[in-house]
Amino acid sequence: MVIILDNKATEEQVENVVKHLEGYGFQVHKSAGVQRTVLGAIGVKPDFDIRKIKILEGVADVYRVTAPFKLASRSFKEDNTVINIKGYEIGNNHITMMVGPCSVENEEQIFKLAKVVAESGAKILRGGAFKPRSSPYSFQGLGEEGLKLLRAAADEYGLLVITEVMQIKQIDLIYKYTDIFQVGARNMQNFPLLKELGKTDKPVMLKRGLSALIEEWLMSAEYILSEGNKDVILCERGIRTFEKYTRNTFDLSAIPVVHKKSHLPVIADPSHATGLRDQVAPMARAAVAAGADGLMIEIHHDPENALSDGPQAMLPGEYMKLVDELKVIANAIGRHL
Ligand code: PEP
Ligand code: MN
Repeated sequence: MVIILDNKATEEQVENVVKHLEGYGFQVHKSAGVQRTVLGAIGVKPDFDIRKIKILEGVADVYRVTAPFKLASRSFKEDNTVINIKGYEIGNNHITMMVGPCSVENEEQIFKLAKVVAESGAKILRGGAFKPRSSPYSFQGLGEEGLKLLRAAADEYGLLVITEVMQIKQIDLIYKYTDIFQVGARNMQNFPLLKELGKTDKPVMLKRGLSALIEEWLMSAEYILSEGNKDVILCERGIRTFEKYTRNTFDLSAIPVVHKKSHLPVIADPSHATGLRDQVAPMARAAVAAGADGLMIEIHHDPENALSDGPQAMLPGEYMKLVDELKVIANAIGRHL
């Protein structure tokens, strides 16, 4: 931790700050310049609240030098985490595609789309059975019936399943049907849910919260990791900004930043990030170029009548064309799809 003292700080104030730091158990190094004095505190615990120092008289600013997350950090684990699900790996040189409808709607729909997913070479079928909708009057998902259909469609075409879990009480039920638990953006800081998922033995994909800092997102991953589940996948799905022409703002820069700070795989979701079909393909291409370990993409054969997120769903034909383009981009950066 670095403490910059105010240029008007008195000798007593500086000594008081040093006394506090030592009282908290830190080793203090003082560097007195012509204009200002800077203190370096060594031995700061990840959970130390730096506001305890910021509030002291004579302190201009305080910076943390080490990240507050540990198990999620690249310094804790140098090599990329590669997650193995029934022999299929996420986080290696191969780009993982997680594709399917926003919601499972009926048997015909999910089987039709699972066929498209399999034909495209993707290995993971997505589909929501419990939907976090902004309105309580919107379609909330088919529940267990949706899980059964999703599993059956995936099994028919040799695919793995990812589906969202919204509450602790759904974990046991969803566990029976899914291969990967998805934690939605709105639940990124549902710490009790994260802790319970940390006790399971299935991978968890953690979406970035609507207005979450990258650090907060990694701290949420830390909740899952610290309970013992090492198979955490991160998913950038856009964040809320002042822009109105897109549903969210796709933070592509988060991909290289997370790769530098963490060993966990990062999936990009251009569907929820942009919210409009015509923007999904360009941003999917950009995400692969930026180094994403995979993509989550929503497709639908009849988007106009989709029960959720129709406007952002790609038509199967458009999606197939995108896959061909993504292969070229992946190859250009030494990866494959
Ligand atoms: C979804 O994947 O359908 C979804 C609801 O995503 P998010 O949590 O990113 O909004
Ligand atoms: Mn959706």
